[in-house]
Amino acid sequence: MTGYDVAVVGVGGIGSAALYHLASAGLKVVGIEQFTIAHDRGSSHGESRILRLAYFEDPAYVPLARRSLELWHILERESGERLFTETGGIDGGPEDGPMFQGSLAACLEHDLPHEVLDGAALRERFPAFRMPRSHRFVLQGQAGSLHPERGTEAHTRMAEAMGAEMRVESPVEGWERNGAGVRIHLQDGDQIEAAQLVVTAGAWAPRLIGAEGPRLRVERQVVAWTEPEEPALYEPARFPVFNIEVGGGHHYGFPSLGGRGPKFGRYRHLGEDTDPDHLRREATAADRSLLSGFTDLYMHRAGPIVDTGPCMFTWSDDEHFVVDRIPDQPVVVGCGFSGHGFKFAPAMGEAIAALIQNRDPGPDVAHLQWGRAALRAAE
Ligand SMILES: Cc1cc2nc3c(=O)[nH]c(=O)nc-3n(C[C@H](O)[C@H](O)[C@H](O)COP(=O)(O)OP(=O)(O)OC[C@H]3O[C@@H](n4cnc5c(N)ncnc54)[C@H](O)[C@@H]3O)c2cc1C
Repeated sequence: MTGYDVAVVGVGGIGSAALYHLASAGLKVVGIEQFTIAHDRGSSHGESRILRLAYFEDPAYVPLARRSLELWHILERESGERLFTETGGIDGGPEDGPMFQGSLAACLEHDLPHEVLDGAALRERFPAFRMPRSHRFVLQGQAGSLHPERGTEAHTRMAEAMGAEMRVESPVEGWERNGAGVRIHLQDGDQIEAAQLVVTAGAWAPRLIGAEGPRLRVERQVVAWTEPEEPALYEPARFPVFNIEVGGGHHYGFPSLGGRGPKFGRYRHLGEDTDPDHLRREATAADRSLLSGFTDLYMHRAGPIVDTGPCMFTWSDDEHFVVDRIPDQPVVVGCGFSGHGFKFAPAMGEAIAALIQNRDPGPDVAHLQWGRAALRAAE
């Protein structure tokens, strides 16, 4: 049994950033991870994640996205790793739809430099796109792709360099109050004591935050890589990251990166609930046809699907994250990061570290509170 200031359970995308910010604050911290660091069984793998400032979901996220971009660059400098490839970003769809209107509103409210293109102008500028001419798109330059495995590794490695200890391949079974602090039970029978606990367990969070927490749904996602027939069209300089509402779906994609072809996904995919311990990993015919249906119709010479990968979204009821202290407990949670959390990992890590130190995490996370009215309790 060892005593720590803080134990972080779940060292994935968000937990690794929390570990880093807690270690930077000089706290004695331990990270506990059930698998290895940057594994492919949770929500932070697959070599690319979009970072964008033109935030259609809610302009309230723009300051957090800006702060995260700044912190990712600092981590790049400290770790010597390239974590972010700037490509610019395209967000749009029907002119009166939420994606175009939301991105435009975020740009206007936060003074983000941008251009508006119609489907024809988009094709002229970036010839891989074949979108309806009547659709409208925001082109915003401060967007691109993060490398999630490298980001998680870099946060963990830099935290260790500042004194954080790690327990990998150590599943946590549960925790209990231990006086003013917590006692954490590992599956191997070991116990760890800490003054405070951070739960950043992604799709497994509901098991650790219990029935008092918000309801969270875990959904299976599948992405596909293609082998383009005209590879030059999909190079980062000619193919920005994108979120596009078209044909009744929300699709997203990335250029060819790191020697692989472009990657495509449909947000929420088939809407299929899953148990994180029994995630179906192989792609079905339905998975493939949903994704190739988009590339065949709306992309130029994107080529056949040559690889696929599964992943999980974890949704709260209002689809916003939950980053807060559990009332009256020495426990801070960071969960419900759904389909858009990775980009914010450093800002979330910073907010979690502030909450642990009983400092105000600032106005930018005010909409992420545990007890907000829009969340229903777990069943
Ligand atoms: C297909 C797909 C595309 C996405 N695209 C984007 C995008 O473009 N941009 C973006 O910003 N976001 C995107 N997201 C969302 C983003 O990736 C996630 O919100 C984010 O990575 C979630 O991080 P996390 O730390 O909550 O989960 P994870 O990274 O899964 O970390 C949770 C960790 O907790 C560990 N753990 C759980 N239970 C225990 C336990 N009992 N004991 C010990 N360890 C435990 C797990 O093993 C895991 O390592 C996407 C997600 C998916 C699936």
